[in-house]
Amino acid sequence: MTYAPTDTPADAADRRAIAPVICYPPETLPKPPLELYRTARATALKTNEVLIPARDAQCFEVPAGHFFRISSVEGPQVGDLNLHNLNDVTERFYSGKTRALHGTHITTGERMWSSFPNMRPMATITEDTLGWYGIDDFGGSVHDVIGTRCDPYTGNLLAGTQYHHCCHSNLTRSLADHLGVPVDQAEPLVHDVLNVFMCTGFTRDTGQYFMKASPVRPGDYLEFFAEIDLLGNLSACPGGDCSSEHSSDAASCHPLLVEVFAPAQGTLEGWSSPSTNEYDRTHGRG
Ligand SMILES: [Zn+2]
Repeated sequence: MTYAPTDTPADAADRRAIAPVICYPPETLPKPPLELYRTARATALKTNEVLIPARDAQCFEVPAGHFFRISSVEGPQVGDLNLHNLNDVTERFYSGKTRALHGTHITTGERMWSSFPNMRPMATITEDTLGWYGIDDFGGSVHDVIGTRCDPYTGNLLAGTQYHHCCHSNLTRSLADHLGVPVDQAEPLVHDVLNVFMCTGFTRDTGQYFMKASPVRPGDYLEFFAEIDLLGNLSACPGGDCSSEHSSDAASCHPLLVEVFAPAQGTLEGWSSPSTNEYDRTHGRG
């Protein structure tokens, strides 16, 4: 941010010294039963895997109550993840609300929430091998819900380019293929992502969004429990590990592996798929 010079009021220091208040204290959110999930995961069996090619995207389906894992395989690589309700693709991941509830980056025990009017957990993170990273000295952390997804429109605005392998385009093509519709029908369903393995933050002095080389290495993974039937759509970002640039073919890129695991019968006793939000939707016009 660049601030225009203005007159400083006499009580500026007092106003700045007011302590912040957490908008949505996480203690008030329903707690995911992580122990139950872990027990179920211990005997779950792999039912499917999809290799996401570098600079491209693929869709995958995960039934409610199953697990899915996104792994780094050949080299450091970040992924842009979209989630839809498999049975109604207009219910999709709501990155802004997830950020408001959990913060700028998410890890084990935190959830990916869906759009209004459903607003329910779509997936819960059950394992994060980069959980050790925390927040670095630059204010950077991993798996952000800050960024949107790299897209050809911003590239065109800034540099006049016509690049077709930004995550937005990759996700659009893969969703179009999955739904069997033209790209112009799939594109409006593509939404802001969870930036899997991406290391980002805001500069402290100017408040600008930054990225840096991801700490992910082959073998690292992020694993989720599907709270509802999911259609996942994952792009292996043309930014590679996002150490320098994206929106071109310049960066070194690698595939990402998605694996799906089915729980053994009876191991999720007491769990049920969350229902949609109970707000009555009259908006004061009841
Ligand atoms: Zn991208």
